[in-house]
Formats: sequence, structure tokens, C-alpha cells
Amino acid sequence: MVWVCKNCNYVFMRVTEPDRCPDCGKQYIVQATKEEEAAFFKSLEEVKKEEW
Ligand SMILES: [Zn+2]
Repeated sequence: MVWVCKNCNYVFMRVTEPDRCPDCGKQYIVQATKEEEAAFFKSLEEVKKEEW
């Protein structure tokens, strides 16, 4: 499941619902929308490409 911090817009993957943002520590975590999820996985693929 992909989550978004509404405070700093940090996007991250976590199996269970996180209680706070791993980046800023605020408790403004919401589940990512389909669009945000797609953008997140797309950016992961781009990182992989850069490593190659
Ligand atoms: Zn945050």
C-alpha cells in the first residue's frame, strides 16, 4: 500500500498503516490515490533506469 504525507508530500510504501511520516514525523498520513500510486511506481522505475 502506498501512503502520502499531507504535510511534506512524502510518498512511501508500507504494508500497514503508518502512524507518522518517516520524513517529517507529522501524523498527516493518507492513502495515496490511484494517480499518486502510479506516479510513485513510475518514479521508482526511473530510479532503476538511472542505476543502469
Ligand atoms: Zn511528512
